[in-house]
Amino acid sequence: MSDTIFGKIISGEIPADFLYEDEIAIALKDINPRAKTHLLIIPKKPIASIIELEEGDEKIVGHLVRVAKQLAEERKLPGYKLQINVGKEGGQEIFHLHLHLLSDYSNDIR
Ligand code: 5GP
Repeated sequence: MSDTIFGKIISGEIPADFLYEDEIAIALKDINPRAKTHLLIIPKKPIASIIELEEGDEKIVGHLVRVAKQLAEERKLPGYKLQINVGKEGGQEIFHLHLHLLSDYSNDIR
């Protein structure tokens, strides 16, 4: 597992409330939300960033989008943003790939 905070959350070393988990990914609330809904969908595979994607990893990235869609549907979000920050210059702070799901619709349960 990656030696990042997300790696430690996935391995259970740091406790966290998972909103979703399957064999490929987890989802949880962002600790410092920048929208009414701000969720993170994180692959269990320790891919550092989009820059480090290997052959076959596109399936994992597609899965993250699918999970985001499911979480948005569960929350009845009429619209949302999906964001991946890539590299330090792209605003990435944690070098374990993650997809941000952001929405300002207030009918969310967060
Ligand atoms: P990045 O800038 O790497 O794309 O986004 C990292 C995100 O992780 C930030 O939005 C930040 O608020 C969030 N974050 C940082 N540490 C933690 C943590 O320990 N738990 C959770 N749930 N989110 C975190």
